Amino acid sequence: MNDNMVAFIGAGNMARCVIAAMVKSGYPASNIIASNRTEPKLKALAADYGIQTTLDNLTAVQKADVIVLAVKPQMMGDVCGQLIEQAPEIKEKLFVTVAAGLPVSRYESWLGEVRLVRSMPNTPSLVGLGVTGLFPSRCSNYEKAFVDAMFKGTGMTVWLDNEAEIDHVIAVTGSSPAYFFYFMQAMQQEAEALGFAPEQAKKMVAQTALGAATMALESEHSFAELRAQVTSKGGTTHEAVTSFASAGLEQMVSQAMQAAIRRAREMA
Ligand code: NAD
Repeated sequence: MNDNMVAFIGAGNMARCVIAAMVKSGYPASNIIASNRTEPKLKALAADYGIQTTLDNLTAVQKADVIVLAVKPQMMGDVCGQLIEQAPEIKEKLFVTVAAGLPVSRYESWLGEVRLVRSMPNTPSLVGLGVTGLFPSRCSNYEKAFVDAMFKGTGMTVWLDNEAEIDHVIAVTGSSPAYFFYFMQAMQQEAEALGFAPEQAKKMVAQTALGAATMALESEHSFAELRAQVTSKGGTTHEAVTSFASAGLEQMVSQAMQAAIRRAREMA
C-alpha cells in the first residue's frame, strides 16, 4: 500500500495535518507530493517532512495514484475543471476530498464518474486526536483501506453508508470542538471572576476537560453513569448540574447541533 504516490492539491492547514500524520505513521515521504499556489507552505512541508513539492498542480496529479483535493470549497470547481481539461486521464485515479460541504454529485459534474472518498476531518486532527467521517463513492475495499490508513494517524475514522450522514458528522464532530471551546471559555471567565489568573484558569479548565474526556474514553460507563458517580445528592456538583438542567442544557445542545446540520444542508 505504501507504494501509492499521493498528491495533495492545496497545501494549507488540512493538507499539512494529514501529511504530518501519514509521515509519522511511517508512510514514505518520497511517495507524497504537495502542490500549492504559493511557495512558503511548500518549503515548510518539504523541510518538516521531506515530501516532494511543486507549484504546478498538473505535475502533482500526473505523478499520483491518489489525488487529495485540499483547497477551499470555493476554489474546488476551478481546480477540478483545470485538472480534468489538462489531464483527462486522471479520471481513472482515486480522489479524496477534504472540502466541507460539497456533495459527490458536484465532483461528478466537474470530473465525471470518478472513484472518490469525501472526508470530514476536525481540527483536533492537528494533535492526533481528530475524528474523520469518510463517505466512499464507487471505491473498492482496497481503496477504502488505503484512505482509512491515511487518516488513522490524525485520530479516529468513522465510515458512513449514506452521504447525508456527513452533515451529521459535521454537527457531532466537525463543528463541535468549538462547542467545547465555548463551554471552556465560559468556565474560564467565571474562574477569572473568582480570582484565578487567566493562564491558570485556562489550564485548570482545559486539564479538567482532558481528564473528563480521558476517563470517558477509558471507561465502559455511559456519560450519565460517570456523571452520577461524581454527583452526590445534596452536594456541590448536584447543585451545579441541576442549574444546567433547569437552564435547558440538553435542549440547547440539541438545537445547536440541528442548526449546524441545517447550515451544512444549505451550503451543499
Ligand atoms: P487553507 O487555506 O489553509 O489551505 C488551502 C490551500 O490551498 C492554501 O494553501 C492555498 O494557497 C491553496 N490553493 C488555493 N488555490 C489553489 C490552487 N488553485 N492550486 C493549488 N493550491 C491552491 O485551508 P484549510 O483550512 O487547509 O482547508 C482546506 C480544505 O479543508 C477546505 O476545503 C476545508 O473545507 C477543508 N476542511 C478544513 C478543516 C479545518 O479544520 N481547517 C476541517 C475540515 C475540512
